[in-house]
Amino acid sequence: MPVSSAFQTTIAVIGAGPAGLMAAEAAAGQGCSVTLFDAMPSAGRKFLMAGRGGLNLTHSEPFAPFLARYGAAAGHLAPMIESFPPEGLRRWAAELGIETFVGSSGRVFPKGLKASPLLRAWLARLGHVGVRLQTRRRWVGFAPDGALRLLDPAGTVELFPAAATVLALGGASWARLGSDGAWTRTLADLDIASAPFRAANCGFTVAWPAEFSQRHAGTPLKNIALSLADTRVRGEAVVAGYGIEGGAVYALGSAPHRALAETGAARLLLDLKPDLAPADLARRLDRPRRGASLASFLRKAANLPPIAAALLRAVRPDIVHGSPGQMAEALKALPLDLTGTAAIDRAISTAGGVRWDALGPDLQVRSRPGLFLAGEMLDWEAPTGGYLLQACFATGRWAGAAAAAYVKQADLNGL
Ligand SMILES: Cc1cc2nc3c(=O)[nH]c(=O)nc-3n(C[C@H](O)[C@H](O)[C@H](O)COP(=O)(O)OP(=O)(O)OC[C@H]3O[C@@H](n4cnc5c(N)ncnc54)[C@H](O)[C@@H]3O)c2cc1C
Repeated sequence: MPVSSAFQTTIAVIGAGPAGLMAAEAAAGQGCSVTLFDAMPSAGRKFLMAGRGGLNLTHSEPFAPFLARYGAAAGHLAPMIESFPPEGLRRWAAELGIETFVGSSGRVFPKGLKASPLLRAWLARLGHVGVRLQTRRRWVGFAPDGALRLLDPAGTVELFPAAATVLALGGASWARLGSDGAWTRTLADLDIASAPFRAANCGFTVAWPAEFSQRHAGTPLKNIALSLADTRVRGEAVVAGYGIEGGAVYALGSAPHRALAETGAARLLLDLKPDLAPADLARRLDRPRRGASLASFLRKAANLPPIAAALLRAVRPDIVHGSPGQMAEALKALPLDLTGTAAIDRAISTAGGVRWDALGPDLQVRSRPGLFLAGEMLDWEAPTGGYLLQACFATGRWAGAAAAAYVKQADLNGL
C-alpha cells in the first residue's frame, strides 16, 4: 500500500528546550507537519531557569572571537552559527516582539530580562504554524519498524511513526527541569557514542574554614578578577557553602577542569581590587588602624567590602597583621585552592555528549538515516555569555531544516 504523503512529511522533534523548539520552527517553516514531544509537563523549563539570570541570549562580539569560544567544536558549529548568527537571533527575537539590548559586557539580553514573554510568544507562533506539542511523553527508543517509543505517565508505551526525527534532549544538569542525560543509554544501545558528561560552567569546591562558609555562603564578590596560570578574567563571583561559583568562575572556561584533571589541584588567585596596582593599594593601606576592626579598616582605607576581611582571615591569616605591602599583595592575589568541581546537577551546562564523528555535516546520525540531533546533547562546550543558547538555537535550526530536506527528498524518491 502506498504510504500517504501526510505520513511522509511528519517530523517528530523530541525535547522542547530552545534547540527542539527551534528545530520544530525550522521544519514547520519548510511546510512539514511537526509534532514536538517532551517528557516534562511543559516546554522550556531550563530556558525559563536561564531567564532568572536575565536570559543572556547571545553575545555581540565579532564573529571570529565569538566562534573561538567553542574551542575544539568551533569548526563543526561554524556553518550553523554562520547561518543563524547573533544578529539573526536578535532579529528573530524582535519578530516575536522581544527587543534585545547589548549590555556593557557585550552580552545580549531581552529588554525585559526574562525568558517567559519570549517563550510564550514563541509557543504561540509555533501553534499558529501547526506544530503540535505533546508533553509528558518520554522518548525511550525505537520500535523494530522505526516508530518512536514514547512512554506516558501511566507507564504505557505509545508508538509514533515519523518520517524523520530530531532529538534535542539537552545535557545532564538540572535533572528536575528535564535534562537528565538518561538518553545516553538509549543512544548507546543504538551504537551512537557519546563523550562522558562533565560539569561545565560550574562552581568548584574550596575547603573553606567551617565558620567562614557558614557565615558567608551567598555573599557576592563584585568587581573582582580571577586568574589561573595565564588566564585572567574580570567579573563577579559568589561565595558558596561548598566553594565558589558565578560568572567570573565560569568565564575561566575549561582551564580549572584541565588543571584538576591533570594534577588533581588548581589554585585560583582572587584579586579583590583589580583596578589598583599593588603599590597603589599598599599606599592606601599605609595608615594607622587605631583599633578599628580589619573590616572597617579595609573599607575606610580601600573601599573594600566586609567579605574582603573575612576572606583574608580565612585564606591568609598570616597576613592580617602584616605590613601594608604584604596586605596589598595578598588582597590582589588571594589563593583559593580548588579541590574539585561542584555537583554536575547544579552546573549551568555540561560538556560531553554525542560525538561529532557519529554525525554528518547536516547533524544526521550516520548510522541511522532520518535521525538528527541538536543542542546541548552534542559534544561541545562554551563559557557563559550567551554562547550556550546561541549554539542551541543554531544547531536546532540546522537540524530542523535538514530533517525537512530529508523527508522532502524521501517523498520525491517515493520512499
Ligand atoms: C541556571 C541556568 C542559567 C542559564 N543561563 C543561560 C544564559 O543566560 N545564557 C545561555 O546561553 N545559556 C544559559 N543556560 C544554559 C541553557 O539554558 C542551556 O544550554 C539550554 O537550555 C540547552 O538547550 P537544549 O534545548 O539543548 O536542552 P534543554 O533546554 O535542556 O531541553 C531539553 C529538553 O528535552 C527534554 N527531554 C530530555 N530527555 C527526554 C526524553 N527522553 N524524552 C522526551 N523529552 C526529553 C527535557 O525535558 C527538556 O525539556 C543556563 C542554564 C542554567 C541551568
